Amino acid sequence: MADHPKPKSRSTEDIENQMLVDKAECKISVNVVDFYHNNHMVVIQTQEIDKTGKAIYSRFKLHLSSLELHAPVLANFLTQALDNVEGTEENPVILPFTTPEFTCFLDWIHDREWRPFKITEESLVDLLRVSSTLKAEVGISYAVSGLESLRLPSARMLQLVGDFHHLPEVHYWVGPAVKDLIQRPLGEITNSEAQQIAAAYPTIARTRENIQRLLTQVSQRSFALKLADKDQQEEADLCLTHKECQKAWKSVWKENIGYLLLDFQKPLTYRELLELLRNTDFPKVNPSCKARMLNWLSRKTDYPGMKELVEEAVASIEDIYHVPRRGPAPENPKV
Ligand SMILES: [Zn+2]
Repeated sequence: MADHPKPKSRSTEDIENQMLVDKAECKISVNVVDFYHNNHMVVIQTQEIDKTGKAIYSRFKLHLSSLELHAPVLANFLTQALDNVEGTEENPVILPFTTPEFTCFLDWIHDREWRPFKITEESLVDLLRVSSTLKAEVGISYAVSGLESLRLPSARMLQLVGDFHHLPEVHYWVGPAVKDLIQRPLGEITNSEAQQIAAAYPTIARTRENIQRLLTQVSQRSFALKLADKDQQEEADLCLTHKECQKAWKSVWKENIGYLLLDFQKPLTYRELLELLRNTDFPKVNPSCKARMLNWLSRKTDYPGMKELVEEAVASIEDIYHVPRRGPAPENPKV
């Protein structure tokens, strides 16, 4: 074949001009395939009421694609809305969120290194509210982990359980919050905390009273130096002066230990009690009897009856907040 002349390089402008000529002469036909059919713009409207009671509307113009990853349910809903000629400037889709809540949700979706989502209690609660309504699982997990990491006061955590009780993710907050609140003197619970836990307050007050009663009983019983099981009883029989041991134990307990359980502000925890017994001198108690007693006591984790009182309080507060009774803890705790 004869040498082809080297093709002359053509500019984009040349090609476009040629295509226009070809098109005009019907030499080519063009099929448009819209790969961007999901990439529609959608207009969303939210509102907030200002201090004077006036409604202020805000509109957000968004690419549907920006919502698909983080809010698939919303993206799906908006796609259908667009098919029905909603979500336009003239006919925006109205969502049931306040403007700050929805702004916060969008800030989270558009979280970038140079414009990071601001983690505050308020922003996370807004994110949780919008995400839970939209069933946006990633947003729910993010907000739940974030709120856990803020280590908010227990009363506030219980209030959030009340607000979001339909989310299983918050059910695990009840136990730790209740355990913390029942350990605090009621006088320390501020008015605003009392309001936050309004429905649970009577249960917390009652449990605290029951704990005081239990500690009073323990302080009077002195965990008498008689031993719990048969083996130990037999060992105790080897102590020839065990009656003296018991008497001496009781007297030291009365002098130095019992009253600490009755401290209304900060009663002794079981762990503190064990530590105190270990470090207290019991001059007339046979050292092996003391050691055996401590060994027996340290096999328990709390005062007898305490675990039941706490579990009862947690269960009754779960009922108050419509939280289903506790199942097993999640396999992969998020925090
Ligand atoms: Zn003894």
